[in-house]
Amino acid sequence: MTSQNPVFIPGPTNIPDELRRAMNIQTLDHRAPDFVDILSPVLDDLRQVFKTSTGKVITFPASGTGGWEASVTNTLSPGDKVLMARYGMFSHRWIDLCQRHNLDVEIIECEWGTGAPADRLGERLIADKGHEIKALLVTHNETATGVVSDIGAVRGAMDAAGHPAMLYADCVSSLASMDFRMDEWGVDLAVSGSQKGFMLTTGMAIVAVSQKALEASKTATCPRCFFDFKDMMAANAIGGFPYTPPLQLIYGLRASLDMLFEEGLDNVFARHHRIAEGVRRAVAAWGLRLCAKSPDLYSDSVSAIYVPDGFNSDALTNHAYDTYRVSFGVGLGEMAGKAFRIGHLGHLSDVLALSGIAAIEMAMKDLNYPIEMGAGVAAAQDYYRSTAGFTGKKGA
Ligand SMILES: *Cc1c(COP(=O)(O)O)cnc(C)c1O
Repeated sequence: MTSQNPVFIPGPTNIPDELRRAMNIQTLDHRAPDFVDILSPVLDDLRQVFKTSTGKVITFPASGTGGWEASVTNTLSPGDKVLMARYGMFSHRWIDLCQRHNLDVEIIECEWGTGAPADRLGERLIADKGHEIKALLVTHNETATGVVSDIGAVRGAMDAAGHPAMLYADCVSSLASMDFRMDEWGVDLAVSGSQKGFMLTTGMAIVAVSQKALEASKTATCPRCFFDFKDMMAANAIGGFPYTPPLQLIYGLRASLDMLFEEGLDNVFARHHRIAEGVRRAVAAWGLRLCAKSPDLYSDSVSAIYVPDGFNSDALTNHAYDTYRVSFGVGLGEMAGKAFRIGHLGHLSDVLALSGIAAIEMAMKDLNYPIEMGAGVAAAQDYYRSTAGFTGKKGA
């Protein structure tokens, strides 16, 4: 029965039965002439989730990390200067990937718990009179700290500086859970994956590419083969892949898109906001602190929560798993041992969120945390009751 417990890690996320069934298909011939009828609409419809009408969506059999690698190697050349801010484990890993591809990475160090510093990025661009910086790479939703960054503000700073650099955004843990606007924010490469907001198994990197980035790919010289945009687009145009496609995930994506569109993207975002706010009310009621420094930075897909001094967050997440068989995210990087994370993205409802809040509350009580039993659950219940959309009893 414990296998029925949802996970509260921020990816991979819980897979709805509907999507598990959609992925349960027998092998089909991906070279059959009618495969194009399955693949093309999926790639086309994905653009609505990225909110791009001019960009192209390209997918690879990979995890999100493969999407980072594809975006970088197709559009940049060794030695190219790129500007990146580090404010958590995922922005750190993307920096590491760029360095290993021999890019010249200029790093702006930020306190963890803050987001992309549009002002500092803008100042650096203004100082770059010779336009040596080829790209800004920004993590939209820093999954390690539960911080969402204002990509529109970064675009504003780039425009104010009159700088032609390309803008890359990692939206792996935000896309399809939180609003993302590729065209409006002038994003050239947006990187996501199948196992978070899309509620599917891991195995597909999903990248949206602007016309400017496609143009850059014609002269970029980073070595690439498996992740080559040109090979993939040429094959996609006739309905195939340059190699064997992850067929089950393509069927899964079709069903996932149908689910998201049926609920309506705005409703999906509102649901995530409401669930996240309930979690945040619980955190406040426990007297604990979020890593995210201010409300404008609060992520609606994951909350990272500091444990009180003298407690070890790894002992807490281990205890929650050992005793109640419920998984929470551990503290990553410099937050190891200091914070745990509640993932609240993907296929989740208020009622499911309450089970996670209750489980971690029990685990904290077991370990003698200075919290009042039931305080977090009650705070979340109050919030969910007062905002319930289905019973119609607003504020009751
Ligand atoms: C999950 C995640 C990734 C990609 O991780 P994979 O394990 O390679 O799928 C990248 N960036 C962020 C912000 C993430 O949350």
